[in-house]
Amino acid sequence: MTNHSFPVTKNTNPLLPTFNMDEIAFGKNFTDHMLVADYENGEWKNVVIKPFAPLALDPSSAVLHYGQTIFEGIKAFKNEKGEVVIFRPDQNFIRFNTSAERMQMPAVPEWLFMGGMKQLIQLESGWVPNKPDCSLYIRPFMIATDPFLGVRPSVTYKFMIILGPSGAYFSAPMKIAIEKKYTRATPGGVGFAKNGGNYGASLYPVSLAQKNGYDQVLWTDAIEHKYVEEVGMMNVMFVIDGKVITPSLERGTVLKGVTRNSCIILLRDMGYEVEERNLSVAEIVDAHKKGVFQEVFGVGTAAVVSYISRLADDDYVMDFDVNALKVAPALKKRLNDIRMGNLPDTHHWLEKI
Ligand SMILES: *Cc1c(COP(=O)(O)O)cnc(C)c1O
Repeated sequence: MTNHSFPVTKNTNPLLPTFNMDEIAFGKNFTDHMLVADYENGEWKNVVIKPFAPLALDPSSAVLHYGQTIFEGIKAFKNEKGEVVIFRPDQNFIRFNTSAERMQMPAVPEWLFMGGMKQLIQLESGWVPNKPDCSLYIRPFMIATDPFLGVRPSVTYKFMIILGPSGAYFSAPMKIAIEKKYTRATPGGVGFAKNGGNYGASLYPVSLAQKNGYDQVLWTDAIEHKYVEEVGMMNVMFVIDGKVITPSLERGTVLKGVTRNSCIILLRDMGYEVEERNLSVAEIVDAHKKGVFQEVFGVGTAAVVSYISRLADDDYVMDFDVNALKVAPALKKRLNDIRMGNLPDTHHWLEKI
């Protein structure tokens, strides 16, 4: 990778000096600068870092009508020594271009994605909270910008990176309904890509579950609604009879989570047997009836490990005492300890700025 240094226009009215790091809300606060690049005539150009500000887009921009848009979510941390590290950004870089290919968008080269991200974070290092479990959330994304209402791949795009401080993400244990009518992803579809439409399409079924007192849904496969896939926007793990089971990626309907992969590796380090395979709702209910269904939890960059206190298969309700969980809290602690530099980074997951 050649080393690029992109031109910077400094924000002359920065928020950082007066920003209260004790009041950060996920996804609402953004740093003083952003990276913007244009794709025109088959190449990426005009890469600049400039003050965070609204965009001017033509109302006919393709992204606003046909949803050619993809994103990533990554976190950077400040460890005890004050060093800023990014967690496995190479994996997000690969996945971003996998999403781009599926959405008929151009690949973003490493010098732009990784080089731009590092330079931006270096500039904004004062925004990386240095408190336990706090982080800087990194949101790279790409949008189609052709001012044209015909349905065809855009020939112009914008790639951008915005950043926001993120607090110790406390989420109350979730109540989850197993979803057997609506689908998140279908074989041959776009479930493996982080494209905008997947998330818009999930809002309605989730709102129905919320009317019934649940927080989120556990998605099942689109064909038979028999096998579990993901929980909300997270990958899902089950502990049954001491073994950890997580849905496999084979059908292309489960997003290839970086946290999922990291958790599988750490769980094996911790001595757990981990199976990646199809897991049916019937098997889960059966395990619960036998008293061997011990834990279920979500894993993803935003919340890391999210506990689940209730899982319902229609009228059959399975409750979990979150204070008695063993695997999920131990896993969460291990992952956090590695990210904060309290445990050695034996898998080389931290990229120093
Ligand atoms: C982003 C995402 C995940 C989690 O992936 P991470 O790389 O661990 O953040 C899981 N499922 C869906 C649908 C996602 O969009």
